[in-house]
Amino acid sequence: MGENRIHTALLIEDDPGDALLIREMLEQQECKAQLITVERLSEGIHFLQQNPCDVVLLDMNLPDSSGLSTMTRLLDAAPSTPIIVLTGLSDESFGTDAVKSGAQDYLVKGEIDGRVLKRAMFYAVERKKLEITLKQTRDLFERQARIDYLTGIYNRMMFSELLEAELQRARRYGSDLSLIMFDLDHFKEVNDTCGHNIGDHVLKAVAQLVCDSIRAHDIITRWGGEEFMVLIPKSDQSQAAILAEKLRRLIETHDFGNGLHVTASFGTTQFKSGDNADSFTARSDKAMYLAKKNGRNRIESL
Ligand code: GH3
Ligand code: MG
Ligand code: MG
Ligand code: MG
Repeated sequence: MGENRIHTALLIEDDPGDALLIREMLEQQECKAQLITVERLSEGIHFLQQNPCDVVLLDMNLPDSSGLSTMTRLLDAAPSTPIIVLTGLSDESFGTDAVKSGAQDYLVKGEIDGRVLKRAMFYAVERKKLEITLKQTRDLFERQARIDYLTGIYNRMMFSELLEAELQRARRYGSDLSLIMFDLDHFKEVNDTCGHNIGDHVLKAVAQLVCDSIRAHDIITRWGGEEFMVLIPKSDQSQAAILAEKLRRLIETHDFGNGLHVTASFGTTQFKSGDNADSFTARSDKAMYLAKKNGRNRIESL
């Protein structure tokens, strides 16, 4: 329970009578929380930016803000602090709106008593904690759905979505679109001789090297184990081949640690009318296999 103790509560309330009432209620409950009172939203936001605070009690009608936006502005400024909105009897519907917009609870002035207030504060803290955990979990799942866990670049699923969008753009506007696929050469040997962890390190480093040398709107993915793709909007076959050569040299000349060197084989291709995602990627794959067949550490275009 110690963890759940409320140390500091912030009351944002411009009516001195209401503020006093709340203070007295908490004192009667022997609530040990320090209650800070301010009269303006701007002061409240300023306080929260400077000080840790467990919960906010918020009157929605203040000298410098009124209505629902009082709550949403506070929430924007302090997204991890639980908020309990205080409404008057006549504007109780503000309370439900505030909860829908992210407040943890609302209390109607005149109906509050000390026990209710204390319990509301406790539950608000708990609910906010849960909300934050849920959000973190959701963010993590969303990230995992998009990002390759090892290299931090887009995974195949995300890439497929972006590829569809770029294909549509190429069809609609007739803009160039090219694709580079590359696969590390004899990578099994790297794992066999240096160990899987070094292999993982090489994959991460390759992803980083490529990320650092492509443009912001180029899209890189880890397509499979040691296979990568770079989708290059507004570029034709020859521009793709130039980038591929740059990447090939970059990888070839990079020291991956203790003199470890690897190479990669590249296939490039350009969007042709009638292409879909499968035909487009299959052609880059075919070009890459041609590069393998023709000796590796080289580029072929189809
Ligand atoms: P090639 O030049 O023909 O591409 O030869 P290769 O050895 O690279 O090709 P192969 O397909 O035989 O082997 C691919 C290797 O990539 C084997 C596999 O263990 C390794 N690999 C795939 N994914 C990972 C990974 O996430 N981490 C590590 N360390 N290795 C991986
Ligand atoms: Mg007021
Ligand atoms: Mg390989
Ligand atoms: Mg492979």
